[in-house]
Amino acid sequence: MSDRMIYLDNAATTRVREEVADAMLPYFTKEFGNASTLYYLADGAKNALHAARDTMAKILGCESEEIYFTGCGTESDNWAIQGTAEALCDKGNHIITTKIEHHAVLHTCQWLERHGAEVTYLDVDEAGMVRPAALEAAIRPNTILISVMFANNEIGTMEPVRQIGEIARRHGILFHTDAVQAFCQVPISVRELHIDMLSASAHKLNGPKGVGLLYVRKGVELPSFMHGGGQEKGKRAGTENVAGIAGFAKAAALAYEEMQQRMERETELRDHLIDRVLREIPFSRLNGSWRNRLPGNTNFSFQFADGETMLVMLDMEGICAAAGSACTTGQSAPSHVLSAIGLPDELSRGSLRLTLGYETTKDEIDYTADRLKEIVEKLQTMSPACERIRGQSRSFCRNGGIYK
Ligand SMILES: *Cc1c(COP(=O)(O)O)cnc(C)c1O
Repeated sequence: MSDRMIYLDNAATTRVREEVADAMLPYFTKEFGNASTLYYLADGAKNALHAARDTMAKILGCESEEIYFTGCGTESDNWAIQGTAEALCDKGNHIITTKIEHHAVLHTCQWLERHGAEVTYLDVDEAGMVRPAALEAAIRPNTILISVMFANNEIGTMEPVRQIGEIARRHGILFHTDAVQAFCQVPISVRELHIDMLSASAHKLNGPKGVGLLYVRKGVELPSFMHGGGQEKGKRAGTENVAGIAGFAKAAALAYEEMQQRMERETELRDHLIDRVLREIPFSRLNGSWRNRLPGNTNFSFQFADGETMLVMLDMEGICAAAGSACTTGQSAPSHVLSAIGLPDELSRGSLRLTLGYETTKDEIDYTADRLKEIVEKLQTMSPACERIRGQSRSFCRNGGIYK
């Protein structure tokens, strides 16, 4: 085991920043009052909730009343989709989404299908992009919701959200976007992009686990998802996770403040990693688009190397990475996202996701590229199939290669 620890799985979760942990602590032991009570002790909690809502509204370009705190990104996705299906059941039962959504969206849509909904799962192109024309063509008179993610969690592809928002608005259809990977990582203005509902989660941006938000545009009537007390204007019952929400707001404020400089830094490190891998490692391929990609995301496939084996070997070098999607680890089924971009199962199984964070350094990237090169070459040497085709071009399955 290596005594280094290089964390390159920031799309799965992130380390809570010290400043964030500090911002949360008072709400456990001092300002512990229930925000729904009237006495002075609860003022700290109430103020924290107000301030957090204002922070999120400023970041998204909306009003504070349009922000609802939830238990996680998954809950936000469930609420937006199930709530719309319920609210608009008289208007229709058809939902349009994509084949590359997070399971929080896909499994919610599948559950709704078992309860009478009709769902169109749009194909994406080889970079993972939804085609706006195909989306528009899928609209029916009974379409009530379009749910397309802002950026994909496996391959980092940024979807054409502006065009989708315009189409949704032109047809008078609600537009929800799962922005869990994009919130505070890239600029988002819900007004400019015509977004009606947006999901985000704290633990993907150096905040705590177990707290999320749903932006719901004023005028969208979303029924309550959790029934109980009057918290969150009666829309999301349950005593507020004040410490979590305060931590979420602190993490978001810091990430928003540093966004521009962080995007530049991570893009540079990301491109350096992609460049080194494609140039130095035989039979390697970048999955997704190079340019139209989240700053911190890389996803590669290596022919003749197994993803899970690479993970274990990287772990022994002190490097945390992901094979396919973290949510599918443990199952041997190839990632639904990689299948949707047309990757054959063999290359899907040989895939590796390395996602950067604000703390990632150039030195860590170079160390990772060095170790990865050794590991992949070792596995390829052990593969008889690889030996047979070694004489052929080394760029066999690079991005834009034969699997286009
Ligand atoms: C992580 C993630 C989620 C789920 O968020 P949780 O807060 O972990 O429930 C949903 N969508 C995307 C794109 C994600 O990356």
